[in-house]
Amino acid sequence: MVKKVAVIGAGVSGLISLKCCVDEGLEPTCFEGTEDIGGLWRFKETVDDGRASIYQSVITNTSKEMSCFSDFPMPEDFPNFLHNSKLLEYFRIVAKKFDLLKYIQFQTTVLSVQRRPDFASSGQWEIVTVSNGKERSTVFDAVMVCSGHHILPHLPLQSFPGIEKFKGQYFHSRQYKQTEGFEGKRILVIGLGNSASDIAVELSKKAAQVFISTRHGSWVKSRISDDGYPWDMIFHTRFASMLRNTLPRTVLKWMTEQQMNQWFSHENYGLEPQNKYLMKEVVLNDDLPSRLLCGLVKVKPRVKELTETTAVFEDGTMEEDIDVIVFATGYTFSFPFLEETVVKVENNMVSLYKCIFPPQLQKSTLACIGLIQPLGSIFPTVELQARWVTRVFKDLCTLPSESIMMADIIKRNEKRIDLFGKSNSQILQTNYIDYLDELALEIGVKPDPFSLLLKDPKLAIKLYFGPCNSYQYRLVGPGQWEGARSAIFTQNQRILKPLKTRSLKASSTFPLSFLLKILGLLAILVGFLLQLQ
Ligand code: FAD
Ligand code: NAP
Repeated sequence: MVKKVAVIGAGVSGLISLKCCVDEGLEPTCFEGTEDIGGLWRFKETVDDGRASIYQSVITNTSKEMSCFSDFPMPEDFPNFLHNSKLLEYFRIVAKKFDLLKYIQFQTTVLSVQRRPDFASSGQWEIVTVSNGKERSTVFDAVMVCSGHHILPHLPLQSFPGIEKFKGQYFHSRQYKQTEGFEGKRILVIGLGNSASDIAVELSKKAAQVFISTRHGSWVKSRISDDGYPWDMIFHTRFASMLRNTLPRTVLKWMTEQQMNQWFSHENYGLEPQNKYLMKEVVLNDDLPSRLLCGLVKVKPRVKELTETTAVFEDGTMEEDIDVIVFATGYTFSFPFLEETVVKVENNMVSLYKCIFPPQLQKSTLACIGLIQPLGSIFPTVELQARWVTRVFKDLCTLPSESIMMADIIKRNEKRIDLFGKSNSQILQTNYIDYLDELALEIGVKPDPFSLLLKDPKLAIKLYFGPCNSYQYRLVGPGQWEGARSAIFTQNQRILKPLKTRSLKASSTFPLSFLLKILGLLAILVGFLLQLQ
């Protein structure tokens, strides 16, 4: 029986894994290589090996109501998108509230995780750690690997002929911290992900000129959506997800184009994605279009060649006197402490059942948490992963046979390529609500708006048409939280609270939202009746 669980890493994945272990009555020990919690979200001036490194200005691109843990909303006065220091503050509050620090051994790095000789019967692991130069070996019943996947840079220098001749400075985005030292420079940023966009925009405030080179383009979206609400509260609803899953791809492509081009024409701005059928992660950046409009950032195509000071692009144009190249080309990952026979990383890919469990182990006592890039927030995602995993460890949920798991892995990968494409940046990409629901179904916590229709119609409407936040997964089943319903109905309050810094007289408005709700109710009713047929 699983009792002692090792958790590797005290970033968000590690913290939530600890909490889930405690919730399930397991005995966790967390090994964290550094001196503190927070992982990626703990900004440091230095770039340390073996640890994620962010720039000083990073702000979340998923909102607080969509990024908090399911039984612990963020404080009302926290802004909707959080500076890294503020998110770290939330993690500190969580760690204190659930008394998690006592389980963590800081400055303790995991060197190896190996199956015990009697693994086939015991499912146990031997973990070797090092702390203050002292190695120690401990036996655990199960392991949760929470070591992160934004640590190793993907630096594709081989795709940049002439880089060896380039006389300027070049580095990966993980080395970038702030604008100091880049004043008056001509800078080329490679890539059009969220790192590239953030860094290009920030540098353009100090540099002489910034160029951003993209090979496939991308949709660029504002964090602000309808009526000023955070984008993900509008985008990630069950209703929108149902539409995305059922509409023909051509219709979906057309709708996406209309939606994305409402703000500005991606074609005119040179950003338009090459393959508009793909649902790749969008870039969330409120400033990039305005920087382009002001000419402070210019979009260029793929780099064909570099010389000592010049970048030549595939359309034949060139930009001279380039001082700095920032490779914002994403990440790769590895598990140096794991044997390849347990988790093998090949071409930056791993074979894990539901992105979590190695399928070939005789005992399912090792799980990877957070090795995923959902279209929505990763925080509720890792929480559901950890809730499921701890219940698998306890034999409260069971996994299918190896062959079924392998078939699922292959199918999932084919679907991923179909939806998101083959690009390196999309290797860990998953849909959001579909994946959350899939895990929730395993645990027995998937809410069913249709069954609630008669019992609690207000809630049914919220569940179906409102933002799919983590509280939805605390309404029923194991781990049910009595505050979940109320958290769903008070989220608006928490969204608006940090904006209410100037008191205004409340205006009386005709409840248009009420009308929409009635229409929504009718739509659900029709859906319900159709289901009955
Ligand atoms: P990490 O935060 O990397 O934590 C891993 C921990 O494991 C670290 O503390 C590390 O020291 C420790 N560790 C590693 N190896 C060992 C070892 N051998 N022994 C002991 N300890 C070890 N996602 C969102 O949903 N919303 C966002 O707004 C968002 N913004 C992002 C911004 C940036 C710049 C980046 C790069 C990613 C962003 N992401 C975002 C995705 C990101 O992956 C998650 O936000 C999340 O922080 C990942 O947490 P983690 O705990 O899995 O990994
Ligand atoms: P990323 O999303 O993987 O993007 C990498 C970019 O580099 C892509 O545009 C990719 O282009 C390009 N690229 C890769 N290889 C290339 C090559 N050989 N030649 C030219 N271009 C190449 O990496 P990231 O931007 O660092 O983001 C990593 C994760 O962190 C993402 O989930 C992101 O959302 C998150 N993040 C969030 C924030 C925030 O919250 N503010 C900030 C930064 C990062 P293709 O698409 O064409 O392959």
